[in-house]
Amino acid sequence: MGQHFPFMVVGAGGAGAAAAYHLARRGLKPLLIEQFRVGHDRGSSFGHSRIFRLAYDEPEYAGLALEALPAWRALEQEVNMPLYTRTGGLDLGPSGTPTLTQTLAALERIGAVAESLTRAELQRRFPQWHVPDDWAAVYAPEAGIVNPTQTVELLCALTNAHGGQVLENTRVDGIDLGKQPSIHTDAGSFTCDRLVVTAGAWTAKLFPELQEWLTPTLAATTFYRPLEPQAFTPQEFPIFITHDEFQAYGFPSFGLPGVKIGVDVSRPVVDADLRPFDVPGDAAQASDEFMRRYLPDAAGSVMPRQTCLITRAPTTDFLMAAHPQCEQVIVASPCSGHGFKFVPLLGEILAAKALGEAHPWDLPRFGFPARFS
Ligand SMILES: Cc1cc2nc3c(=O)[nH]c(=O)nc-3n(C[C@H](O)[C@H](O)[C@H](O)COP(=O)(O)OP(=O)(O)OC[C@H]3O[C@@H](n4cnc5c(N)ncnc54)[C@H](O)[C@@H]3O)c2cc1C
Repeated sequence: MGQHFPFMVVGAGGAGAAAAYHLARRGLKPLLIEQFRVGHDRGSSFGHSRIFRLAYDEPEYAGLALEALPAWRALEQEVNMPLYTRTGGLDLGPSGTPTLTQTLAALERIGAVAESLTRAELQRRFPQWHVPDDWAAVYAPEAGIVNPTQTVELLCALTNAHGGQVLENTRVDGIDLGKQPSIHTDAGSFTCDRLVVTAGAWTAKLFPELQEWLTPTLAATTFYRPLEPQAFTPQEFPIFITHDEFQAYGFPSFGLPGVKIGVDVSRPVVDADLRPFDVPGDAAQASDEFMRRYLPDAAGSVMPRQTCLITRAPTTDFLMAAHPQCEQVIVASPCSGHGFKFVPLLGEILAAKALGEAHPWDLPRFGFPARFS
């Protein structure tokens, strides 16, 4: 058997990089293993932008997001650069849509500033939107953009700086559960005292028992060059989510000179190793239609279309718990399409779990579903 490390982490996406960073910061010299290079574009944590928002229709996730804010601020302080760009956020949809009402209630419940806007108020404040007469909106000033590629690269650099190691281009082919879990890679085998597995869309390849729970799906985004660029800067145009048939989300021009949107009209199930990179036709069509209908001044030429993997759990809850057969192994899939905003806090929670410590935001809903115990 090869080298032994007290702590190892498999997978350098947002969750794994943050877990390794927090372990390294505590002087625990973790080994973080990634099958590709750090910052690659084959998983879930890459690109310029992910939405940060407190606006959830579930109060627990709204609270978790509130708690993630100081974690982002602490990380910003450590690297002395901004990582969260505040733009404000809009939730929009037909007036009376239950999730829209619940979003406002959840924001109020955590004491966040939130404004309910009629369509007329929306049009006055944000004339970029051309929505039907019966639509309404919730505006929350505390919302904005975090940058996945930048964050993952920084967290890996900080892991190294704090005495950990990042081993790239090394694929874990198997894990043996046990008091000292061992992992097998194309570069040899390693043992450890505690293992955190944050393998994103590959999680069920390492733990086939999770195949029926964690489903890798393909998601698509498109950038559009605005016809009126000044109206779509981060200062003028808030991030948004729609509560309608498109279930769209989007960003002002950020990172690239284009408005980025995604629509949730289909969720093709894929194998993480064999997935296509082309954007499915129905997603491209729906995205173009959404822009023409609601944001015509941004619907200029199509810039890149991209795909990304979302690992979905049936409840949209995160999985972050010790393996039912081995308390030394923590399995974490904080995705379902909404995990990045929490990344620095998730790292803190995962490091605490690996150390057997309690964390106030280690919520019961992150546990393995009962059927696996
Ligand atoms: C299109 C899209 C839009 C999204 N929008 C938002 C948003 O607006 N706001 C938000 O908060 N979240 C959003 N998300 C979700 C967020 O990006 C994810 O929750 C988050 O990136 C998940 O990170 P992860 O570390 O769990 O997975 P990943 O980033 O996929 O990381 C897993 C890592 O493990 C590595 N790995 C896997 N298997 C092995 C192995 N056997 N050996 C070695 N390494 C391995 C992989 O290569 C990968 O690097 C979005 C996701 C997508 C795809």
